[in-house]
Amino acid sequence: MIKLTNVTKTYVGKNDVHALKGVSLTVEPGEIYGIIGLSGAGKSTLIRCINMLEKPTEGSVIVDGQELTSLSTDKLREARKKIGMIFQHFNLLSSRTVYDNIAFPLELEGRSKQEIEQTITPLLELVGLTDKKYHYPSQLSGGQKQRVGIARALANNPEVLLCDEATSALDPQTTKSILELLQDVNRKLKLTIVLITHEMHVIKEICHHVAVIENGLIIEQGKVIDVFTNP
Ligand code: ADP
Ligand code: ADP
Repeated sequence: MIKLTNVTKTYVGKNDVHALKGVSLTVEPGEIYGIIGLSGAGKSTLIRCINMLEKPTEGSVIVDGQELTSLSTDKLREARKKIGMIFQHFNLLSSRTVYDNIAFPLELEGRSKQEIEQTITPLLELVGLTDKKYHYPSQLSGGQKQRVGIARALANNPEVLLCDEATSALDPQTTKSILELLQDVNRKLKLTIVLITHEMHVIKEICHHVAVIENGLIIEQGKVIDVFTNP
């Protein structure tokens, strides 16, 4: 579903930062793929290269059979509909209700009010927020905000969900419930999930495969049980 080949990313500045130094990885359809590493290792840059929020300096990024690095702006906008994303700090619009936050990407698509409602009603059900649809983000807990983030990311019916430290701002109990929700959508919607984290237990709890990134390079990758049960 996702294939990165020799991806490099250099942030050019007074002192260039070589954030990715030649990363290759393959994510199979329907799996949950974890990327773990310390702060500054390149995780965020890597996940943002998958949807071209960062443009790789070199290398190839293929999502669902399509090479993304060479697409025109219009084609890229189209291709990005297959890729949802959730964030550590949720990135909700504070002036909009839960319902209107989830509606936002659909409004950008020019969907009708009726279509939007038909999409959102089951999504609210799926993330367990039906009774909160007229609440504003400030009236929600962190876990509830992330549920809104997940519903919004799913609104365009993507093939892939990218999770950028999606549980790092949450307490352990809430983290557990969000991970269960991710597992649930992975199974129910056959959604491919890539997540980055600095927390080992997140990887162990829900990932099938893992890559360990250090200083812009993947130093280990494989099945979670193989990578983390070495003597
Ligand atoms: P992680 O997500 O693992 O913490 P990042 O991908 O955020 O790592 O950062 C990798 C390296 O790239 C770090 O040295 C960071 O300071 C640098 N970096 C990240 N974003 C930028 C940017 N926009 N401009 C310059 N350097 C950046
Ligand atoms: P961090 O991982 O540093 O805590 P976030 O994960 O909250 O930060 O956000 C990562 C980046 O995504 C931010 O730098 C922001 O510019 C960008 N961003 C914010 N909202 C959106 C959005 N709706 N779609 C795509 N990118 C966004």
